[in-house]
Amino acid sequence: MHKTKFIFVTGGVLSSLGKGLAAASIGAILKSRGLKVSIQKLDPYLNVDPGTMNPFQHGEVYVTDDGAETDLDLGHYERYLGVPMGRINNYTAGRIYNQVIAKERRGEYLGGTVQVIPQVTDEIKAAILSLASPNLDVALVEVGGTVGDIESLPFLEAIRQLKKELGPFNSLYVHLTLVPYLSTSGEHKSKPTQHSVKELRGIGIQPDIIIGRCEEPLPADIKRKIALFCNVDEDAVFSSVTVKNIYEVPLRFYEEGVDQKIAILLQLPAQNPNLTPWRRLVQVSESLQGQVTIAIVGKYVELKESYKSLHEALAHGGLVNGVRVNFLYLNSEELIEKSLEKHLRGMDGILIPGGFGMRGVDGKLLAVTYAREYKVPFFGICLGMQCMVIEFARKVAGLSLANSEEFDPDCPDKIIYLMSTWYDHRSGRQEVRDAHSDLGGTMRLGAYPCRLERGSLAQHIYGQDLIHERHRHRFEFNNKYMQQLSERGLVFSGFSPDGQLVEMVELKLKDHPWFVGCQFHPEFKSYPMAPHPLFRDFIRAAKEYSRG
Ligand code: GLN
Repeated sequence: MHKTKFIFVTGGVLSSLGKGLAAASIGAILKSRGLKVSIQKLDPYLNVDPGTMNPFQHGEVYVTDDGAETDLDLGHYERYLGVPMGRINNYTAGRIYNQVIAKERRGEYLGGTVQVIPQVTDEIKAAILSLASPNLDVALVEVGGTVGDIESLPFLEAIRQLKKELGPFNSLYVHLTLVPYLSTSGEHKSKPTQHSVKELRGIGIQPDIIIGRCEEPLPADIKRKIALFCNVDEDAVFSSVTVKNIYEVPLRFYEEGVDQKIAILLQLPAQNPNLTPWRRLVQVSESLQGQVTIAIVGKYVELKESYKSLHEALAHGGLVNGVRVNFLYLNSEELIEKSLEKHLRGMDGILIPGGFGMRGVDGKLLAVTYAREYKVPFFGICLGMQCMVIEFARKVAGLSLANSEEFDPDCPDKIIYLMSTWYDHRSGRQEVRDAHSDLGGTMRLGAYPCRLERGSLAQHIYGQDLIHERHRHRFEFNNKYMQQLSERGLVFSGFSPDGQLVEMVELKLKDHPWFVGCQFHPEFKSYPMAPHPLFRDFIRAAKEYSRG
């Protein structure tokens, strides 16, 4: 029998209240009480996974070690808990329905009528319970969306049923709502919370804990009122105030006593959390001395959420170097030769993040040239590395027609190309890849090993010979061009263990202070308590560059 206890987190009134952050912060405090904690996100939309969703709309696709393309909240979870997330930690309604329909087609329902209740809700319950294990004390389950949404209903019904099935003290409901402050009457208003809880109770869920998002801490009288009208204990209503620094949230929750109440309701061992690392983190992030400005040259610059992990990883790099990192997001489609100087002068570092499609590539290539020639620290991630290689081939190695097959399928020098057969190092299988068949799942996804070349900058930065990093791309460097480029000074510094796939490139220190590219996405594995080596060193180089 597993001993895992479940905390179900729902949201009401409005979306974007920071439910993911609240769930991650609760997880972080529980973890610092010595408990083993995991989190799962249930997304009510019908996409099977967020992999095919437009980052403009949905924000970043977060990739896990096991190659799942997940909601960006999983990034928060991993950063706050320091526990790797995986496929099991994110289910969408689409994935649940897909499984149910597949079972139906296989005849597993023995000819019965397949319905939302019980077949779909059973599938959801099984997904939730798959987290349970003898090694896990608490599983937080965040139900995406807002109470009242049609598509959330099967998920809410599933968690309603689970409370009873799990038995007393084994689960609880946390509801996050908005408690607005009306300056005209000078008071907090509890009505939206009351309505949201009424809706929740209509479904059969009585919250145990209510967390009110607010600008100022909720006064005792409003907490009392919410408790009375929403039928919860008075000491189970908490404030979640807007904070400048998101690392403060676990500390604020602790001060409010959120973990204490959870411990009582779930009969968890009484233990004081050790929040020293969080306090230190807040202290460090508030006492940064200098600053550096990094230009991020990309396509999805309008929605900052599209580069969520990247933003975080750069900030982590700033923390270890004692500097604040300012971001200048540049839309590469607008970056033309004439405006290069205007935009890029004064930058302490330039970064090209991952991306898809050829839109804006010319601007990215111009940014590489600028960084290479002016010796500005430059970091190319995934598509960014591919741009580095194309630029180098064209401008330094004289292959003026070099391109990626992705941008020009007919180009004569496909320096970045689609490998038709491809060896999967994890499964040991040879795969035939067809990028044009199905948009989901045709990519190299998840963690792969990479061997670093002795004496390279990459190896020096990592302090290791073998690393594991996460991938999400279709195209690879074409080894046919390796010799030609290395003769002109491009260093191939990271390879798949069989030497077949180029994973990292760089320029020698004598040629450039910091010019590094990687085919993987290191930003997914940077944590506030353990900044990623590449971001740490990139910001170090930017800091040095800024001091001239
Ligand atoms: N579009 C490129 C590829 O598929 C790069 C992908 C990325 O940057 N994540 O290979």
